[in-house]
Amino acid sequence: MNNIFEGVFKFKNEDYEKHKNLFAELESGQNPHTLFIGCSDSRVVPSLITKTLPGELFMVRNIANMVPPYRETEEYVSTTSAIEFAIEVLNVKNIVVCGHSNCGGCASLYKSEEELKNVPHVRKWLELANPVKEYVLNNIKAEEKRGMGGVNKSLLTEQFNIVHQLDNLFTYPFIKEKYSKKEINIYGWYYMIGTGEVYNYDKKNGSFNIIAK
Ligand SMILES: [Zn+2]
Repeated sequence: MNNIFEGVFKFKNEDYEKHKNLFAELESGQNPHTLFIGCSDSRVVPSLITKTLPGELFMVRNIANMVPPYRETEEYVSTTSAIEFAIEVLNVKNIVVCGHSNCGGCASLYKSEEELKNVPHVRKWLELANPVKEYVLNNIKAEEKRGMGGVNKSLLTEQFNIVHQLDNLFTYPFIKEKYSKKEINIYGWYYMIGTGEVYNYDKKNGSFNIIAK
């Protein structure tokens, strides 16, 4: 659908009507169970891939689903304030950091200053993932030294980026505390756009495993 006005009309007449009671209930407030930190990419639709309704996911979306480290800088408060609000005020029970295949943000980590000169804010934002880039480049070098070629650089970047953002979540004292008291679950997901598969990060094995019944 290209006509977004037509979409609004259809929403009101079809979807809203279908969930009228839910919307009436939600009018007075929200009580989401999950903070979903995803990429701004138009192909990632959190409510669709989790089959959730309005009121269930509190979302933070930005380029490459990033979590700025706690109070390291005041430059990224748009993201950090939403995380703080979800945990401290809304008391969500889960946090999901969801990355995805063919992420343009992750690919841009390897672009030169010249290539990013028209998007200075994007370039600044991507600095948050410098440790990810470093890790991937070192890892690929090490693999090559061992004579193991064929490492998929974009997959490695996208998946390690998720792991790095999970680490950054633990720089938030209130998240660390709630997690240690088992009051909150934290997940890292990798969504494959072309197959519809979602993989969940297993910290013990350091691997992403497909979510299946
Ligand atoms: Zn992306």
